[in-house]
Amino acid sequence: MRLLLVEDDRRIASFLEKGLRAEGYVTETAASAREADESLRFVEFDVVLLDLGLPDESGLEVLRRLRSKDRSLPVVVLTARAEVRDKVVGLDLGANDYVTKPFSFEELLARLRAVVRSASQPEASELVVGDLRLDLLTKIAYRDGRPIELAPREWALLELFMRRPRHVLSRARILDQVWQYGFDPGSNVVDVYVGYLRRKLNLPGLVPLIQTVRGAGYRLIAPEAEGDGATA
Ligand code: CA
Repeated sequence: MRLLLVEDDRRIASFLEKGLRAEGYVTETAASAREADESLRFVEFDVVLLDLGLPDESGLEVLRRLRSKDRSLPVVVLTARAEVRDKVVGLDLGANDYVTKPFSFEELLARLRAVVRSASQPEASELVVGDLRLDLLTKIAYRDGRPIELAPREWALLELFMRRPRHVLSRARILDQVWQYGFDPGSNVVDVYVGYLRRKLNLPGLVPLIQTVRGAGYRLIAPEAEGDGATA
């Protein structure tokens, strides 16, 4: 994990460098806005820890220039308590989080972990289970590369299954999440729609994907997880 520390206060910088290295961060330090710009131009970082009170310019200017080129590199801003306005501007400019000085090192670590984690999990644009793929942008489903047309409820039902592969979903839970309003729990609408989905998904020669779990509900299986690897 490569971290750029932008901090002009030598004492704080060396304390942080030591602590962050001990936590496994490969840390580079910049002591001014100009040095920060340089480092950002030449090195790939995973996260930036940015002090706002720098000798040559506000850290906000570093952030502004960074965001004009890179929307995704996570940035945690370090602010003094008096800089509430800067904190707000920082978030507006695209800082992912901030820590107020004086801060606890544990809190700082937690914030860094959180922003790195969420940056590495961009909102999925597709869901894939075995040979089944849902393109969430175009709303087209593919089985074994072949497009499958789904009605809106069928889509919602399949998306629910694909977000929880191998989990048994009860009829009540499916009703609640796909139909939302108070359907009669005795209604067989779930079974009817699972039937529709099966007909569309069970292409000749391919493994059936939706299992009935007697007395419990339904689940989507992932063919490659089913065991012997014999599926060609
Ligand atoms: Ca400073």
